[in-house]
Amino acid sequence: MFKEVIREIEKANKIYITGHINPDGDSIGSVFGLYFALKKIGKDVLPILSNYSSVFSFMPNISDGVESVKEDEYDLLICVDSSSKARLAIKEEDFNKAKTVIMIDHHQKDMPYGKVNAIDSSLPAASELIYNLVKEMNIEFDETIASYIYMGLMTDTGSFNYASTKPSTMRAAADLISVGIDFSEICKKINDTIKESKLFLIEKAISNMEVFYDGKVRYTFVDYDTISALGVDEEDAEGMTNYLRKVENTEVAVYVRGKQNGTLKVSMRSNGKVDIAKIAISFGGGGHVRASGYTMNLENSTYEKEKQKLIDLIGVNLNDDFSG
Ligand code: 5GP
Ligand code: MN
Repeated sequence: MFKEVIREIEKANKIYITGHINPDGDSIGSVFGLYFALKKIGKDVLPILSNYSSVFSFMPNISDGVESVKEDEYDLLICVDSSSKARLAIKEEDFNKAKTVIMIDHHQKDMPYGKVNAIDSSLPAASELIYNLVKEMNIEFDETIASYIYMGLMTDTGSFNYASTKPSTMRAAADLISVGIDFSEICKKINDTIKESKLFLIEKAISNMEVFYDGKVRYTFVDYDTISALGVDEEDAEGMTNYLRKVENTEVAVYVRGKQNGTLKVSMRSNGKVDIAKIAISFGGGGHVRASGYTMNLENSTYEKEKQKLIDLIGVNLNDDFSG
């Protein structure tokens, strides 16, 4: 799968790797896993990273991440875990300085923007693609590379519990564990530790919850002023759908939050009957059948109207019984 990718990497000297804005564990895991692997074989490579949640601060040498490109020109940009060019973490001017662009991704309805595009939407995590790439390049996994890739697999599969998890994902994880990484610590730091401010955000999200269609849809909204007053960092304000979607009989959970830049970010989770990638794409966003999102377009509209459109569209799709 990676023949052309590897040919471009071999040709290149100066390389940057980027993921998506609001980086999640898979974005950070795939960027840094590949970064440390390419560094190991002597490439002049840097990871692009900005505005990441402090949850990831414990990961080894995460401070290697840079926000922008120093050079006027560089050989290769590798973009991982982002289905659209618009959502890349790299600045547009820095994107344009790359002589060649490679895209490596696993989202539904990717819009290829690379010269070489390695896309497999059957995989649960971009980090599984990076695992396969590093293996195909015969680069030996060390603890740092393995920790990042494992972290990406773990976070995008709900600790290997989402239906998207494949036997190959488990095999990759087993292989990475055999390197001797502290996978238990990675899980504890990421899944089982929150700041107290986040506990109060959860309280707000739950008290603002609205229920539609006999409890099949649970919706919550927290505005930016509230998030800010609670002292929750923007990067740490995600994840409220996790609580809503646990409630019995829920099919779709929606969390809308205000961002500092004045926009409203919609985050959706489906328990499997409703294809929410389709819904997010129709609003200009994207994602996966069970996890998707978009930014509400409030030009010529209002929050209330956009909210109603979303609830209506979910309602139309509730009886689809798509099994994803
Ligand atoms: P989250 O709810 O965690 O922010 O995002 C869930 C999934 O939806 C992720 O896989 C993410 O890539 C995708 N997603 C979220 N927001 C957007 C968006 O604005 N545009 C696109 N294309 N995908 C999004
Ligand atoms: Mn991903």
